[in-house]
Amino acid sequence: MKYLDEYRDHRIARALAAEIVQRTTRPWVLMEICGGQTHTIMRYGIDELLPRAIELVHGPGCPVCVTPLETVDKAIALALQSDVILVSYGDMLRVPGSRSDLFRAKAQGADVRIAYSPTEAVKIARSNPDRKVVFLAIGFETTAPANAMAAWQARREGLTNFSMLVSHVLVPPAIRALMVSSANRVQGFIAPGHVCTVMGCKEYEDLVRDFRIPIVVGGFEPVDILEAVLMLVRQLEARQLGAGVARLENQYVRSVSYQGNLPAQQIVAEVFEIADQKWRGIGPIPQSGLRLREEYAAFDADRVFDLGEIAVDEPAECISAQVLQGLKKPTDCPVFGMRCTPENPLGAPMVSTEGACAAYYHYRRHAVAS
Ligand code: SF4
Repeated sequence: MKYLDEYRDHRIARALAAEIVQRTTRPWVLMEICGGQTHTIMRYGIDELLPRAIELVHGPGCPVCVTPLETVDKAIALALQSDVILVSYGDMLRVPGSRSDLFRAKAQGADVRIAYSPTEAVKIARSNPDRKVVFLAIGFETTAPANAMAAWQARREGLTNFSMLVSHVLVPPAIRALMVSSANRVQGFIAPGHVCTVMGCKEYEDLVRDFRIPIVVGGFEPVDILEAVLMLVRQLEARQLGAGVARLENQYVRSVSYQGNLPAQQIVAEVFEIADQKWRGIGPIPQSGLRLREEYAAFDADRVFDLGEIAVDEPAECISAQVLQGLKKPTDCPVFGMRCTPENPLGAPMVSTEGACAAYYHYRRHAVAS
């Protein structure tokens, strides 16, 4: 299949790995931002193809993992209201809140429904005029256009029983927060291809300039990841020799342009505005999220429902904050694979199909903590 087979070709992958080995003269710490990229790395054993000097650490790019506990608790509280239909992507149902999850709420009689797109939630609102339909709108820039479209459509139709519980996060401010942290070890980033398909590469130029760090926009197949690593290694090794400056490069040219998808950006800007946002495990990051604009206040579940302030702490033994910042690996967690498994997750990175802990568990079962 075009655009797939050649990006899984083991001969191309081995040739790229060989060039990485040949070019690497010293240790480098590289971070892939997106959880989808982490899964590819684990699934295909890409880290094992690389020289020991290249350390891949895993970033915060799993939308389910960074949705705050408070948002999960609010969704559960809404779902338990008898006149509410709570609509969510399937991944979110098993994410543990502070005391329960949406699956358990459903088992208690809550009307929780799974949707594959936010417009399905609008359709449910249209067909249930006597119920309040709340869509749990989470994700990165990738899902923001579809979520914006749902709010836009509901407003256009004058629906009065549709709202969204929004927890949207943005990648560039998260990279900035990682870079200014005194604990940062990352020397090069693989930026998330899907996010950049919407937003383009342009957003990353400031980061490259401000921190003099190479960033390569990467895809999700094994050859994509290896090529992105090679592009970073070429830059880093050249700079080590005093040649060249940090640059923004695009490995994922088959999907990502410099400007991105302008109509998608336009609908997001029309419906949402940039706001401070709390990231689960990491904490608040200034200007790193999206909230509904004032014109869309009637569709903002946080304003429609009186949920009050919910503040809860992460389970003490879950080190997901360090995992999501690339400071620790899932296998450094003392409960990984024992008290925390995909069947019985303690933290979000073990629940989501894009979570780093789940990736390690699925593809490295032997490597549980002792
Ligand atoms: S293994 Fe479980 S408890 Fe440990 S960091 Fe991952 S999600 Fe948290």
